[in-house]
Amino acid sequence: MQGLTGTIKFDNQGFRTNFLLEVIELSKEGLQKIGTWNSTEGINFTRTYGEAYTQIVESLMNKTFVVCTLLSSPYIMRKDSSEKLVGNDQFEGYSVDLINEISKILGFNYTLKLVPDGRYGSLNRQTNEWDGMVRELLDQKADLVLADLTITYDREQAVDFTMPFMNLGISILYRKPIKQPPNLFSFLSPLSLDVWIYMATAYIGVSLLLFILARFTPYEWQNPHPCNPDPEQLENQFSLVNCLWFAIGSLMQQGCDFLPKAVSTRMVAGMWWFFTLIMISSYTANLAAFLTVERMDSPIESAEDLAKQTKIKYGALKGGSTVAFFRDSNISTYQRMWSFMEATRPSVFTDSNSEGVERVIKGKGNYAFLMESTSIEYVVERNCDLTQVGGLLDSKGYGIAMPPNSPYRTALSGAVLKLQEEGRLHILKTRWWKEKRGGGSCRDDTSKSSSAANELGLANVGGVFVVLMGGMGFACVIAVCEFIWKSRKVAVEERVNKLPFSYKDHNLVKDN
Ligand code: ASP
Repeated sequence: MQGLTGTIKFDNQGFRTNFLLEVIELSKEGLQKIGTWNSTEGINFTRTYGEAYTQIVESLMNKTFVVCTLLSSPYIMRKDSSEKLVGNDQFEGYSVDLINEISKILGFNYTLKLVPDGRYGSLNRQTNEWDGMVRELLDQKADLVLADLTITYDREQAVDFTMPFMNLGISILYRKPIKQPPNLFSFLSPLSLDVWIYMATAYIGVSLLLFILARFTPYEWQNPHPCNPDPEQLENQFSLVNCLWFAIGSLMQQGCDFLPKAVSTRMVAGMWWFFTLIMISSYTANLAAFLTVERMDSPIESAEDLAKQTKIKYGALKGGSTVAFFRDSNISTYQRMWSFMEATRPSVFTDSNSEGVERVIKGKGNYAFLMESTSIEYVVERNCDLTQVGGLLDSKGYGIAMPPNSPYRTALSGAVLKLQEEGRLHILKTRWWKEKRGGGSCRDDTSKSSSAANELGLANVGGVFVVLMGGMGFACVIAVCEFIWKSRKVAVEERVNKLPFSYKDHNLVKDN
């Protein structure tokens, strides 16, 4: 039958069928029709997406959101103040500035509230329950979560996230490598031990070859008395000792007072000079680097190094996405790291990032903390004894979380993107990382140490003096031996036993 609202139909049981409903929404202007629904075609919105979005943005105006967060530098920190602060005034940090900027764009108000259990939010797989800030959203105790909350697959299933406002990855926080005191014999470092051995062997081999060739070639046999054209004996200047002296003289770039004359021996000499030229140039080129650069002794350089050893303990923040990354990873290195972390007693997991940083400082090299790169960046800017080890193990972002199917997601994402494109996020990051609360205190440190590294101290070149003194001492010992040897010989020849050797008697010194 035809009624006032159109056709009215009933089925056999007396229920109405094929009827049309109007969908209306309560807005500031009162009730508004936004679509229709009928039992055959379902819903049909007559309002466009643009209109809906404008209405959502309008509905945000003057609304007050409860924003759940947790204390984590530099995102949310308590303000240093002598007076007792209340409400939003108690806090400052990157997240406070960010929500402030977003609220200015969208025109809402907010109240910051700390999460009671101090957790980010992890899913208990047995009970299927969330904890931390994610729980607050699901329990409708908060409208938004703004912190260094990582967007993960599990969390995305439970709540909604905006576009990421910061990108990061997991990395390792560890103490800086300890500078090794320079090695006394660092002048030996430019060439490896093998090369030194090969060089010594080449020196002896070339000296021997020179000796043999000089005996062999007729052109090295000289007339000892040039005035006598027919000498009885010829002389060869390349005795074994002279060959060794010639080769070492060339190697040290000094030369010596006799030189080969035959083509064959000149060939040996020429090739040896070429060899020494290249070796000495290479040694010199490398030397400066080895004398000035102080070697850093770092037991770990990557996550693989951590996984391979058991001496240095490592852990992460309890109930966070970092722990979840290791727990759920399929990569064998990370699986091994997760088993090690779980099995280690006392527990290597911490309740906050700052506790982890404390443990790294107090651990003096026995504890490394797996932390997100942005937080590591903040810590190493201020604590000069700490550093990031290795690169990023993954890549992800922080987002603002809200209850599932929240109508405000697009508006909030839009505000985040706007701030990003205008460069506001970059300015905020520079302010909280590099400027406020002691930022940049480690930058002067590095420049100071690099200028000091150019000066060579006695510790760097001391070994050269040791070698010099050793050589002089050895020369003195040999001189004494030579003297004793000659004295004995003279004594035996002249059959005197108490007469010492005299240079004058044996015409070794010419009187002028
Ligand atoms: N930002 C992390 C989170 O959202 C905390 C962490 O695990 O380092 O869980």
